[in-house]
Amino acid sequence: MSTTTPLLVVGSVAIDSITTPFGSRERSLGGSATHFSVAASFFTDVGVVAVIGDDFTDDDKAVFRERRINTENLQSIPGGKTFRWAGEYGFDLNTAKTLDTQLNVFADFNPQLSDTAKRTPFLFLGNILPTLQREVREQVDARFVAMDTMNWWIERTPEELRKTIAVVDALIINDAEARELAGEPNLIRAARKILTWGPQMLVVKRGEYGAALFTRDSFFAIPAYPLESVFDPTGAGDSFAGGFMGYLAQADKIDEITLRRAIIYGSVMASYNVEEFSCDRLRRLKPEEIRARFHQFKEFTHFEI
Ligand code: AMP
Repeated sequence: MSTTTPLLVVGSVAIDSITTPFGSRERSLGGSATHFSVAASFFTDVGVVAVIGDDFTDDDKAVFRERRINTENLQSIPGGKTFRWAGEYGFDLNTAKTLDTQLNVFADFNPQLSDTAKRTPFLFLGNILPTLQREVREQVDARFVAMDTMNWWIERTPEELRKTIAVVDALIINDAEARELAGEPNLIRAARKILTWGPQMLVVKRGEYGAALFTRDSFFAIPAYPLESVFDPTGAGDSFAGGFMGYLAQADKIDEITLRRAIIYGSVMASYNVEEFSCDRLRRLKPEEIRARFHQFKEFTHFEI
């Protein structure tokens, strides 16, 4: 029997090749929807809309089974090849250099959602073709929709991207992407400009410097969790978004207090995700570890007036 989950994500499910200054992994389980759903699954039930080829093994699928992630809308194409991304990081771990992108099965993906998925209240459009993000957005009668994107789409499909941005409530992107998207070097002005295009809020991820939330009439910013060892930044953005949307879907409300907590949960999930390759760290994360870092955030950002 199919079920409506409180949260749904469309995005890439990928096989990555990653090189960091600390090591490399040839076949690393990745993709925006993968990192997002694993992080979000600590807060609520989540469903994935994506496509894979038959090179995506049963062992790879275990990441969804273990966390009871709903895969009713994860299509498998016989004879198809899974999305592939190769990326490299230098000592500035905030910026990934894309070495190779192969859309493979995503090139002709035409998602047809089940009727139950169409009733999902919280929807995340993870990083993937903007046309595909919009096709999913149009099928779902969601109460709150957020999206991500990256320079790859900002540079190749700017018009399609603007059309998708116009139909979401929140845009969650990193600071360099916000500047590039708005064509504006000052981040505050870039944020103000993007907010005139449709979304009610913008969440800017700033890597090791934290994150900021902009709405038309408020501003909130936090530092990143002070980690001493960052091993693989891949998926930091998606696990941030997973913690953020997972918490909002669990709380089932969108007010300033809940949004600020969601930013902290996003930062906590990203801080764990970067400690090891792929989703390895989140796969053995415990809820009490999430609570511990959440409380530490309160301590190190609190001061008296
Ligand atoms: P991030 O959270 O931004 O580090 O996202 C990392 C994930 O994004 C990787 O696991 C990649 O598989 C995926 N990715 C990289 N480039 C693209 C792209 N152009 N479209 C969709 N997903 C991508």
